[in-house]
Amino acid sequence: MSKQKISIVWFKRDLRLQDHAPLKHAIEAGLPIVLLYCIEPSLCQAAEVSERHSRFVLESIDDLNRQLKRVAARVSILHAEVKDVFQFLYDKYSIQTIYSTRETGLLITFERDLSIKKWCQEKNILWKEYRWNGVIRGLRNRDFWAARYDDWLSKPLAHPDLHSLKTINDIAWPNKWLELPNIASRPNGMQQGGESFAHRYLQSFFRNRYESYSYHISKPEYSRKSCSRLSPYLAYGCLSIRQIIKQLEAVYPSAAKKRQLIMFRSRLYWQSHFIQKFESEHRMQFVNQNAAYNSIRQDENDDLISAWCQGETGIPLVDASMKCLIETGYINFRMRAMLISVLAHTFWQPWQRGAQFLARQFLDFEAGIHYPQVQMQAGTTGTSTVRIYNPVKQAQDHDPEAHFIKKWLPELKSLPPALAHQPWLMTPLDESYFNLKLDKHYPRPRVNLVEAHRHARKVIHEIKKSPLARQESRRILDRHVDRRNRMVNTLKRTT
Ligand SMILES: Cc1cc2nc3c(=O)[nH]c(=O)nc-3n(C[C@H](O)[C@H](O)[C@H](O)COP(=O)(O)OP(=O)(O)OC[C@H]3O[C@@H](n4cnc5c(N)ncnc54)[C@H](O)[C@@H]3O)c2cc1C
Repeated sequence: MSKQKISIVWFKRDLRLQDHAPLKHAIEAGLPIVLLYCIEPSLCQAAEVSERHSRFVLESIDDLNRQLKRVAARVSILHAEVKDVFQFLYDKYSIQTIYSTRETGLLITFERDLSIKKWCQEKNILWKEYRWNGVIRGLRNRDFWAARYDDWLSKPLAHPDLHSLKTINDIAWPNKWLELPNIASRPNGMQQGGESFAHRYLQSFFRNRYESYSYHISKPEYSRKSCSRLSPYLAYGCLSIRQIIKQLEAVYPSAAKKRQLIMFRSRLYWQSHFIQKFESEHRMQFVNQNAAYNSIRQDENDDLISAWCQGETGIPLVDASMKCLIETGYINFRMRAMLISVLAHTFWQPWQRGAQFLARQFLDFEAGIHYPQVQMQAGTTGTSTVRIYNPVKQAQDHDPEAHFIKKWLPELKSLPPALAHQPWLMTPLDESYFNLKLDKHYPRPRVNLVEAHRHARKVIHEIKKSPLARQESRRILDRHVDRRNRMVNTLKRTT
């Protein structure tokens, strides 16, 4: 008897039912479909992946399955390697086409995709991969990239007709694949996964939360409400960039604060821009983008790195940000940048272990944004202005009353803001007055901030001027910046 012909929709970081090109095209092809998500043991072991990511994925698929109930369909979640699952299906069915989005992720997912590609070729199965953001594979340079991004954005959304969806739901999967990892329940304050939640965040942002976007974006406490908080939903594809942009265009004409929306829109552009960088140069996951910086920060200091990871650096805004991130899975852009700056510039540590640690904490971990951002903040690209954040000034500017600091470091509650920003300035009299002993209740800073920053500035700037750094910078700019804009900028500078 000949095998039944089927299609597979392989869900990856695209956990939604709207604007989903793979699902739309699979339905239109008319064959019965297996809807699939694999929790891959190999990927779960990656240094960047943690339980909170798996929980978000499981919540998102639950949400899909709730929606799919009305059309009697469901996504199978299997705790297994993708290729094993495809092989299992291949033995039972005649797989015609596998539909999925094209992923720009960690090296391990890239290598997995290469091996799936090879497997498909061997088995004569068509694998159709669809674009889900502005990223283009195989790009040699960034000339015309922005125009192509705009063109892609202007295309209509790819909504699948779920009423025509015919799925195969009665597959007898091996029992061991149905045993999902044990995952602790979600801590309070951490965002819940799912397309439905993504839409709630989107609606509430455009209703009124966006109004203070630019004023609050750098403030660790207020940004939690005034930023969109769409990042985990974008990272796991519970929403697409195009859906957000279309919604933005719909609300823009009647919006009270248009400038805020323009600024927000630029961040959405950055999302694809950064992921494109990573797509074009994914060794950034491991090594300095600019090789001239390979000679510095070679020695790891376990004590410093572990104090940084645990939020015990003795620098209150740094520690409060880390504790907040660990508990809630989120911290705003400015504090992320400051955390890396402190690790790399203040503590003079290589960025790699810290980047992996942060990735595990960020609910929105997106390799293509994360690694280029980490390298930019660590000053290892040699192409952008090096920002060495002074965490005391950041606290004075963005948490002047120290509300955020005291929320996450209750041991500093009794201090007036100026001392909560710099507890090490307390005199012995202050210590007894505020009943807070340095070293006993809160640590002193591990290093002298002023000296550390002076050293970092000097070394980084010296390297930046070196012939190798300049040569590398040119290579990086040629690769990642539209060369026509560079020419215009050079002309502007010289005329
Ligand atoms: C060291 C470091 C690591 C980072 N790692 C990640 C990461 O793993 N995942 C991630 O999504 N963002 C990362 N960011 C970027 C940024 O901090 C977050 O996207 C943002 O804070 C998420 O909050 P939001 O959704 O409320 O953002 P909003 O300000 O509302 O922005 C909307 C969306 O635009 C995109 N975006 C915003 N800012 C940036 C940016 N600076 N660069 C690229 N895209 C941006 C995100 O997709 C975001 O969800 C990192 C930044 C730094 C400095």
